[in-house]
Amino acid sequence: MKPSHIEHIGIAVENLDEAIKFWENVLGLKCYNIEEVADQKVRTAFIQLGEVKIELLEPTSTDSPIAGFLEKRGSGIHHLALAVDNADQALKEVEEKGLRLIDKQSRKGAENLNIGFVHPKSALGILMEFCSK
Ligand code: ZN
Repeated sequence: MKPSHIEHIGIAVENLDEAIKFWENVLGLKCYNIEEVADQKVRTAFIQLGEVKIELLEPTSTDSPIAGFLEKRGSGIHHLALAVDNADQALKEVEEKGLRLIDKQSRKGAENLNIGFVHPKSALGILMEFCSK
C-alpha cells in the first residue's frame, strides 16, 4: 500500500451554505457537488482544487461526529484523505503495523468511494482517511 495523492481535505463547518459562499465568492472556486451522507450524519460539499478536493462537512444531527468536533475545536481542518488502490487492504496493512483503526473495514462514503479512518492517536494527531474507488 502506498497512497498516490491527497484525495481530499475534510473541513468541518457550522454552516455549509456560508462555507460554500466563502470558497466561491472569496476564492473564486466552484462547488460541484453537495451530498448528504446519512451514515455519518453530515451534509458535504465538494470543491475541486487541482488534483485535490476540499470536502466541507456540516453536521445534520447533534450526535454527528462533526457536531462533536465543532463543539470541541470549532470550524477547521477535520481530516486528511489519502487515495489508495484498496482502502480495506490499506487499513489491514497499517493495523498490522500497530496503528489503531476507527474502521476495521471500509464503508461507503461521499462520492461512492470506499473509505476508512485511522485513529488520530496513531497518526501524529491527524485523523487519516483512506479512500479507494
Ligand atoms: Zn473525507
